Amino acid sequence: MSSLNIRITPPETPQPDSAQRPLEKALHWHSPYDSAVRQPTVSVFFTRPAYIRVCVYTCIDTSNEVGGVLIGQWCQDQESGQQFVVVQHALPARFTRQSSVYLTFTQDTLVDLHDQLEKRFPNEKIVGWYHTHPRMGIFLSHYDTFLHKNFFPEPWQVALVIEPYSSQGGFFIRQADGSFDPTRYFGFYEMDADSSRSIVRWQNLHQDEVGPEGDKSNE
Ligand SMILES: [Zn+2]
Repeated sequence: MSSLNIRITPPETPQPDSAQRPLEKALHWHSPYDSAVRQPTVSVFFTRPAYIRVCVYTCIDTSNEVGGVLIGQWCQDQESGQQFVVVQHALPARFTRQSSVYLTFTQDTLVDLHDQLEKRFPNEKIVGWYHTHPRMGIFLSHYDTFLHKNFFPEPWQVALVIEPYSSQGGFFIRQADGSFDPTRYFGFYEMDADSSRSIVRWQNLHQDEVGPEGDKSNE
């Protein structure tokens, strides 16, 4: 092969999967901060098994901050063009350093998480991360924001904060205009649920059933 034929291929840019937003049988959990002027880059669809796993993992140690990653798909709705992530699994982070007010992922944490992703969920992506704030509120600290920007830099990667004592939770998501507010969280969609059989217990969110015609809450 002559050197003229050698091309440097740019690193593959991830693309969203084309899919329909799974609004049927989804329950929309709203944050008190949700409003028409705040448009997240992606909406979050949480499967019930993943929600249960996150709740179990975050209740194991309530005296220290604990965390991990959220695994699933990044998708774009065929009709509306709206992007969303589907959280299918959660993996607790190992080799972390933590205290009651602090959590950090080490290099070993990241290597381990990427290894597990490749072995167990080769066709899925790390769509975000979660961590707890025992006896604190739902926000991202300066350090959390640093971690989010550096380790989860894609516009569609989200950060979930859970307060296990008062049972609260919320998602921090970059907005369509590129801004990011570490003090105001978004809600999410609980999949395969209706108001009579929801498993979400976070007290700071309120629900809104999504009918077969789609989500009325954004109208
Ligand atoms: Zn934090």
